[in-house]
Amino acid sequence: VSNDIEPEAASKGPESDERLIRYLMRNGHGSVFEHSVFRFFVKAPIFVAREWIRHRISSTNEVSGRYAILKNEFYVPDHVRVPHPTNKQQSVRDDSFPAEILELIEGASAASFREYEALLSMGVAREMARILLPVNTYTKWWWTINCRSLLNFLMLRNAPTAMWEIVQYAEVIEGMFVERMPVTHAAFVEAGRRAP
Ligand SMILES: Cc1cc2nc3c(=O)[nH]c(=O)nc-3n(C[C@H](O)[C@H](O)[C@H](O)COP(=O)(O)OP(=O)(O)OC[C@H]3O[C@@H](n4cnc5c(N)ncnc54)[C@H](O)[C@@H]3O)c2cc1C
Repeated sequence: VSNDIEPEAASKGPESDERLIRYLMRNGHGSVFEHSVFRFFVKAPIFVAREWIRHRISSTNEVSGRYAILKNEFYVPDHVRVPHPTNKQQSVRDDSFPAEILELIEGASAASFREYEALLSMGVAREMARILLPVNTYTKWWWTINCRSLLNFLMLRNAPTAMWEIVQYAEVIEGMFVERMPVTHAAFVEAGRRAP
């Protein structure tokens, strides 16, 4: 913040600013955190995107399968998870499953793409041919979100109860956030990762 501006808008020095940020975070004065904005270009499977875009306080523009031919790119997990024994919101990795499970996912996805490409080559509209594609198909979107709402995303999605795949993305996003807003991030952690 430049000090060549109105005194009310100027920084009172790093220590005072840090104290204020921690106070605001602790006491839920969230609107102050709406003035910093992040923009990402995200590539993720559709089933991850579906959870992601539930975060309504943000702006999204996604590549459209009505107009673009979707690339033959789909996500195949490298592990199997089973339901958590007590917590319905969680699943746990189970390495006792045979590799065939993952091969089954890969084979079914590849078959869907083959049929998709066959329909396109017959002249079927892209918006119709795409309905064959599975939810592990990759999609891409621009995502613009203010700091307050991003903290809400991190609170909910970089958490043990969130789906493993979205956590992988949320961890990376949190790393980017720390680099750009370390003081605000420290205040968020100090407040128990509770978004203001
Ligand atoms: C572990 C987990 C499990 C989930 N399970 C399900 C599920 O089974 N089914 C399902 O449908 N969703 C599920 N969700 C999605 C969840 O209900 C939220 O839609 C999603 O996490 C976005 O959170 P949000 O509404 O706080 O974010 P945003 O939509 O970005 O909203 C941010 C904040 O703005 C305010 N706000 C936004 N819109 C409104 C509004 N219309 N009215 C009042 N206040 C508003 C609220 O304070 C909200 O917290 C799950 C999420 C998680 C993390």
